[in-house]
Amino acid sequence: MEINSDHHWNFHGDEHLNKFSISVRGFLNLVSSHRNTDDPRPIIAFGRADPSAYPAFHTSPLFVESLVSAVQSFKFNSYPSTHGVLSARRALAEYYSNSLPYQLSPDEVFLTVGCTQAIEIVISVLARPNANILLPRPSYPHYQTRAVFGHLEVRNFDLLPDKGWEVDLEAVKALADSNTVAIVIINPNNPCGSVYTYQHLKEIAETARKLGIFVIADEVYAHMAFGHKPFVPMGVFGSIAPVLTLGSLSKKWSVPGWRLGWILVTDPNGILEKNGIIENIKNYLDITPDPPTCIQGAIPQILAKTSDEFVSGLLDLLRTNADILYEKINEIPCLTCPNKPEGSMLAMVKLNLEQLEGIKNEMDFCIKLMKEESVLILPGLAVGMKNWLRFSFGMERSSIEDGVARLKAFYKRHAKASNHIA
Ligand SMILES: *Cc1c(COP(=O)(O)O)cnc(C)c1O
Repeated sequence: MEINSDHHWNFHGDEHLNKFSISVRGFLNLVSSHRNTDDPRPIIAFGRADPSAYPAFHTSPLFVESLVSAVQSFKFNSYPSTHGVLSARRALAEYYSNSLPYQLSPDEVFLTVGCTQAIEIVISVLARPNANILLPRPSYPHYQTRAVFGHLEVRNFDLLPDKGWEVDLEAVKALADSNTVAIVIINPNNPCGSVYTYQHLKEIAETARKLGIFVIADEVYAHMAFGHKPFVPMGVFGSIAPVLTLGSLSKKWSVPGWRLGWILVTDPNGILEKNGIIENIKNYLDITPDPPTCIQGAIPQILAKTSDEFVSGLLDLLRTNADILYEKINEIPCLTCPNKPEGSMLAMVKLNLEQLEGIKNEMDFCIKLMKEESVLILPGLAVGMKNWLRFSFGMERSSIEDGVARLKAFYKRHAKASNHIA
């Protein structure tokens, strides 16, 4: 049937969603679309935090065997129970209890489709009229976008570059009110590469307690600390304020494609349970897709085979790469990395526009850099900080060196006439 172009339809897209939906993928796709296909050189992807394809970062064959044997056992071909396969939840509870002052039970572990779904679930159950959540700036953008889709009000507090990217706790106190439900902490940090001290984490927990809110601790980079500060799980302070800890296999085990994550209820006083949040999470899990049963089935073996050597090998690689990136970036006048990364695989770098001719902002910088040098960097706007850039150093050392050399060449071509580079 023919329809008049002026026919009235009730539905229409939401402009607010379009305006505030920010994703790493969206920004990277936009910058990548400016690739000059005549450039024979491969793209150096500083923008992506997924090193799993580089041979140096391949996962352990032992983890692959664990998955193969789970598949071959024929035990994991059915739908999983909604909170996850019990043996996997038990193994994760044991694994995490080693670094906590109390014992987690398998009932305090929920399996999710990567940490991404853990974020979706936690944010979705908190979304209710008038509620607000405190998010760091800069941050991993999924929190913000999920909140926007759930109509949960976001209030941003700053991470302070002059204080090693610590949380501005005064700002947190000023932002919170009686409708604030939770604060998100990412440690080790994406995008800053920082690692919080025991003392700072304790202060965050004490602040949360005073405000009557709980902590969502994104520890997808748990134990990936290679500087002087040891990694301390936020759950250690779960008796000061309730904590939900989010994690996944993606980063430390270098298998983001396996899509397995978790939510841990690190709340020894059971406050989240008493206040109905855990029941909300369970109900949500009943209606969402689960991670594949065979991956869940492989978890006990994967954790049993996670040796200290595997982890220290990964940390050695990241430490060397962080050192190289930090040193070389700071040789380029238009770029400043204020803090040497100590964890995760990411670093925030400030763009000094006054050193450049004809570059309008960080987006313009990233697009021209892609066009001329086939180097992909994530514009800071994607993580909430204009005129900054996010670099990943999860790649081969030779790629970092190649990428930095291209950045230098780019700088020389676009430097203010009065500047000279040695
Ligand atoms: C990568 C990442 C995630 C998403 O993890 P997946 O397991 O790949 O879904 C969540 N939070 C942070 C901070 C991350 O860096």
